[in-house]
Amino acid sequence: MFKTAGRIINWTGEYKKRMYWGFLWSFLNSIFIAMPIMGAAVFLDLMIKDSRGEFVLKPIHALWALLFMVAAIGGRFLFSYLRSIFQESIAYEKTAEERVKIGDILKWVSLGFFDRNNTGDLTGAVTTDLSVFEMYAMNMTNTIVGAYIHMGAMILCMLFFCWQAALAALAGLILSTIFLTILSRNSEKNAVPHQKANDKMISAVLEFVRGVSVAKSYGREGAAAKNVGNAFKEHKDINLKIEKDYIWVNAAHLIACKLGSVGVLLVSSILAINGSMPLHIFLMMAIFSFVMYSQQELVQNGAHTMQLIKAAMDKLDEIEKAEFIDEDGKDIKLQHYDVEFKNVDFGYETRQVLHDVSFNIPEGSTTAIVGPSGGGKTTICRLLARFYDVDRGQISIGGTDIRKLSCNSLLSNISMVFQNVYLFHDTIRNNICFGKADATEEEMIEAAKKARCHDFIMSLPEGYDTVIGEGGGTLSGGEKQRISIARALLKNAPIVILDEATASVDPENEHLIQAAISELTKGKTLITIAHRLATIENADQILVVENGRIAERGTHAELIARDGIYRRFIEIRRKTEGWQI
Ligand code: ATP
Repeated sequence: MFKTAGRIINWTGEYKKRMYWGFLWSFLNSIFIAMPIMGAAVFLDLMIKDSRGEFVLKPIHALWALLFMVAAIGGRFLFSYLRSIFQESIAYEKTAEERVKIGDILKWVSLGFFDRNNTGDLTGAVTTDLSVFEMYAMNMTNTIVGAYIHMGAMILCMLFFCWQAALAALAGLILSTIFLTILSRNSEKNAVPHQKANDKMISAVLEFVRGVSVAKSYGREGAAAKNVGNAFKEHKDINLKIEKDYIWVNAAHLIACKLGSVGVLLVSSILAINGSMPLHIFLMMAIFSFVMYSQQELVQNGAHTMQLIKAAMDKLDEIEKAEFIDEDGKDIKLQHYDVEFKNVDFGYETRQVLHDVSFNIPEGSTTAIVGPSGGGKTTICRLLARFYDVDRGQISIGGTDIRKLSCNSLLSNISMVFQNVYLFHDTIRNNICFGKADATEEEMIEAAKKARCHDFIMSLPEGYDTVIGEGGGTLSGGEKQRISIARALLKNAPIVILDEATASVDPENEHLIQAAISELTKGKTLITIAHRLATIENADQILVVENGRIAERGTHAELIARDGIYRRFIEIRRKTEGWQI
């Protein structure tokens, strides 16, 4: 609990000074809480002395007492206000910075990071975990540290008048701390399962929402909802367990605080009865005993929440430790765009997918990659765009190892058009301009015209300002594809990676998409995962990829002359295209 509080204070970084000032204001606030009690005791003493004729109370004394009380109350509110001003906003400022920082990290990690961490975990980190932080970190640190400062200030004030009562108060504080430590340990055990249950719940809901159309089409909404139901149940179970583990220690902690109050009262009573404590001091100690543990009693909430915050911090730390893919990359302007793969080995996690792959692609030429499903075609393209780093060997463009380039400068040379087009939930204009943020209106329209999508965009009521549904859900497959080609055209990169659509589109769309692709690839170094016979036959070079190896390589005429895998592949394809016609 205290360790986590220390970690939170360190985490505040440049705001740490404000935290410490806040603690100082908290201490002064506690002193001002104690002042009216001490003032009342002194005034009571004067009244007793007055009744005994040992002192003469005058109206001016009452006025002084009143001023003292007003000053004590004013000071209390001033320091409480200062504490809030200094500390409360830190969490919001720091969490906003942390969200941006995590966003930056996610931009620069390899795609392998996303394979290892599921969307629910990452969404949970940026939303729930950081929200736990935002809402509770400062509050709870202040509850815990503030309560101990308050107790310290009260015990200090008591020590001034009666060391025995101060000792009794300290004993109560130690006993309460013992139970808080037990509570903290119990919460620590439950915090990670609680966080996992939370992430699982987010993943299950995301999965359900994404897969709802598939579930509906199979009439299996019930089955899809079952996972969500299980995740909710798991979440409920862990919350019940936390409550069970919490209740008894919580009660023990409250009893310890009450025992502390009773201890102060008991010691003061004994001293008052045997005449070693004057009546006004006894009354002061009695009031102290009622108020001094008020903040300590609240620490139990902090002890539990601190463990949730600790688990959230551990997870955020893990994300921050992620390796950046282009840590050593430099912004290099390439002069040539020929591509070379030299003895490349690569595997996702443990399974090796590419084995000793070597080939080169001359600048301005077209290379078609063909081969059976799962052979490694997409993986080759991903490695060229450095979505992942090779395990062995080297990939170079224009003679420069792509690991020497920063991701930005590498990707500025590459345009990619995939089968599964992703469009952002934004206007068509912004989706096209994603390829070149500073493009003029004319450039954007020209790209859309070349990509054969200008006419259909203009037929929409809002034209280029039409907002596309998430993932491009409000457009047809062919329309999405052409907008993504317009995006790539605007980028005008010298290397184009193209994954030809396998899904059959209607002849009209097919024709428009082919025209758009021809515009995009004119004069470029083109690497295409080819499915259409025309693309394959016209390519300058064909790479046949099978089981992660380059099984055959050459032109169509060269490969067809061999009685190999390519020839068989083409025969099957001819039949398939024939069937389609
Ligand atoms: P297809 O023609 O069906 O698209 P492909 O030739 O493009 O297939 P790849 O997508 O490169 O094949 O996949 C090669 C192998 O790597 C496959 O066995 C696949 O299961 C595996 N694989 C692909 N992506 C991942 C990933 N992110 N994590 C783990 N394994 C993966």
